[in-house]
Amino acid sequence: MLLEENKPLAAFTTLGVGGPARWFVNVSSEDEIAEAAAWARAQSVPLFILGGGSNLLISDAGFDGLVLHIALRGISILENGEIFDSVKYEVAAGEDWDAFVETTVQNNCAGIECLAGIPGTVGGTPVQNVGAYGQEVATSITKVRAYDLHAEAYVELAAADCQFAYRRSRFNSVDRGRYVVTRVDYALIRSGAPTLRYADLQRAFPAGTQPSLADVSSAVRSVRKSKGMLLVEGDPDCRSAGSFFKNPVVSEEQFERIAANSTMQPPRFPAGSGTENAGRVKVPAAWLIEQAGFAKGYVLGSAGVSSRHTLALVNLGSGRGGGSANEILALANKIKTAVAEQFGIDLEMEPVMLGF
Ligand SMILES: Cc1cc2nc3c(=O)[nH]c(=O)nc-3n(C[C@H](O)[C@H](O)[C@H](O)COP(=O)(O)OP(=O)(O)OC[C@H]3O[C@@H](n4cnc5c(N)ncnc54)[C@H](O)[C@@H]3O)c2cc1C
Repeated sequence: MLLEENKPLAAFTTLGVGGPARWFVNVSSEDEIAEAAAWARAQSVPLFILGGGSNLLISDAGFDGLVLHIALRGISILENGEIFDSVKYEVAAGEDWDAFVETTVQNNCAGIECLAGIPGTVGGTPVQNVGAYGQEVATSITKVRAYDLHAEAYVELAAADCQFAYRRSRFNSVDRGRYVVTRVDYALIRSGAPTLRYADLQRAFPAGTQPSLADVSSAVRSVRKSKGMLLVEGDPDCRSAGSFFKNPVVSEEQFERIAANSTMQPPRFPAGSGTENAGRVKVPAAWLIEQAGFAKGYVLGSAGVSSRHTLALVNLGSGRGGGSANEILALANKIKTAVAEQFGIDLEMEPVMLGF
């Protein structure tokens, strides 16, 4: 295990901002994870698990602890999985997610083709139950292997024990920071039909055609690119952490207040099936933000609202090697305040904050 000191972290994140880690270790085996965790415990140093840094805002001061950078690699394919026609993939947490999706599509396996183009690592996907265009990893994951920092032992959690919900799991809620994911198992369907649930995607294919998995994943990448949601080298307009705000779920009373404070009828969507959502509606955060005066392309210092996506806050300084976490946060807070003042809605930020 090679411990590095005062390691700059900005380059490990998609936003490209943030200060150094007091301690940093690249871990490429399960033994190294146990060793690094033991070191942090013995030194009473806080520990943070870093994947691809694509859902992360690190403070300019950095992190006064140990950053464990997940670099475990390897993909095993088990033909004839337990379920008929299913193919089981056991994937090390440090594998690049989008490259893994591409592998499964090339192997003609259905289940995650709509999740093409999402940055980050395989180990990051169960954490917020990554989802897009009608699919989420919760439906394909069968098992998560992880180091339990409390029990100081490796455990294997069945999907049913991961408490998956919309952009949520036990890993980012009740057990936040407890587990270091080292491997994720997915069951995909050999020669299965692609998921074509979203209008954006359906429009890409003439009625009556039967697109292949590769056609659909490639269409997903094109749609993502048009919305600034695909990382393109050298384009600061997509240097984001994905959606910066979650879509708020509000009561009918709050919805009426939103409607009363805008010149247009607000869009509304079902809030989801859980009992906690009964009688509530989901309102697009992007709509609230635009109504509050922040159009696509809005700029504040080196931070901006992507010119292609209202929910993506971007680091416009990234092309020049600049920008700062403070500027991103200043813009986020300005948006939050304006939306709260106009509509009484407290927007929740989606990226993980480190070192603030
Ligand atoms: C352009 C762009 C588009 C995006 N589009 C989407 C989208 O469509 N849908 C979506 O759901 N997300 C999207 N995201 C967000 C992000 O890509 C996902 O959340 C991704 O899964 C994060 O993985 P990561 O490895 O980068 O995690 P990081 O950003 O490194 O970490 C995020 C959190 O996960 C934890 N974590 C990471 N790896 C592990 C591990 N091995 N074990 C335990 N904890 C770990 C970290 O501690 C941290 O709390 C997008 C981001 C960007 C930049």
